[in-house]
Amino acid sequence: MMKEKHSPFKFAVGITLVITVLLIALVVVGNINSNSNETTALGKQPSIDDQPTLGEPDAPVTVVEFGDFKCPACKAWGKNIFPQLESDYVETGKVTFSFVNVLFHGEESKLASQVAELVYQQNPDAYWEFHKALFNEQPENHDSTWVTKEKIVEVAGKVSNIDTEKLETDLENGAAINRVNQDRGLVTEFDVQQTPTIMVNDTMIEDPFDYEAIQKAIEDELEGNG
Ligand code: CA
Repeated sequence: MMKEKHSPFKFAVGITLVITVLLIALVVVGNINSNSNETTALGKQPSIDDQPTLGEPDAPVTVVEFGDFKCPACKAWGKNIFPQLESDYVETGKVTFSFVNVLFHGEESKLASQVAELVYQQNPDAYWEFHKALFNEQPENHDSTWVTKEKIVEVAGKVSNIDTEKLETDLENGAAINRVNQDRGLVTEFDVQQTPTIMVNDTMIEDPFDYEAIQKAIEDELEGNG
């Protein structure tokens, strides 16, 4: 009796077909992931060169907040979302967090961002303390004028190792304008439309208050699927 032999050619064709179908499926799933309602793929990620950072500098994932000290939603984000992100991912060495200034609220945004940049220049380690302290000063009635030179220098003065005299001189000399303009460049480059805007590597989170979406984007990046 003749035994039917499997043709090596047919076998190779079959394997190729299976691999092709799998590859197409992967591409389709990948597209669904990166173009879901929760996130938008940007194709590139914002540079955090010369930006204040929190966490391990070489963490595998970078989360950038585009924010404004005058923006009430940014204050709320810092209170309600950031602490979870910090304990889940920043303190565990998985995420480097960075903040880029957005100047959507006129002169007060400009003043706040300049002083924040000067604090960072003087003492990078003091930056986040100042960042938090300044948001704490934002009043309920956020439309009122509250970012004044006196107030902001007072806030900076309470932060460790900040020379407020130097701060005032540097402010008068426009010593932070370049850094503020660098941030404005990123806002334009990434077409930031609202504050806060949260980016996880090269992905923008549609709703910054959707912590699950932020988590999913980070986990995708950690697993190499981002
Ligand atoms: Ca900056």
